[in-house]
Amino acid sequence: LIASMEEVEETYIMIKPDGVQRSLVGEIISRFEKKGFKLSGLKLFQCPKDLAEEHYKDLKSKPFFPKLIDYITSGPVVCMAWEGVGVVASARKLIGVTNPLQAEPGTIRGDLAVQTGRNVVHGSDSPENGTREIGKSCCFSTNTDSVECGPKSFC
Ligand code: ADP
Ligand code: MG
Repeated sequence: LIASMEEVEETYIMIKPDGVQRSLVGEIISRFEKKGFKLSGLKLFQCPKDLAEEHYKDLKSKPFFPKLIDYITSGPVVCMAWEGVGVVASARKLIGVTNPLQAEPGTIRGDLAVQTGRNVVHGSDSPENGTREIGKSCCFSTNTDSVECGPKSFC
């Protein structure tokens, strides 16, 4: 076996506002738990615009970028760090392709979503981005003390 294939990776999984609003949090977490990955961090978070733009900075030139930022900031998201060997690529398989109509049945997007602009969950696309997206300038590690995330009881 190639040594790098056995290295424990981390990936940033984010349940997007539509997933939270549609009460799919338990369903989505359950899929990663059942697969056998380790949940190493979790929080409910209202993502401010600047962090949403940082998170999706590679897509800044896309025509849908403004709508994407509006979507991600439209309500609380659930930020998670998941660990395991091969977790980055495996999580992308569990999630399914970007357009839910093309995502295979059995995947999260294939089973639970219809629109690309409402595709319920994010997963890092590389180990480097996993580490970056869990890092301190992004949603997961940002201090939430001064951030409003809906009803106070959820913060
Ligand atoms: P993925 O989330 O599968 O990695 P991308 O990184 O290409 O997909 O895009 C990030 C997110 O931007 C998508 O999950 C989706 O919410 C949104 N998005 C991508 N393409 C479009 C599009 N053509 N129209 C609207 N939203 C899009
Ligand atoms: Mg992506």
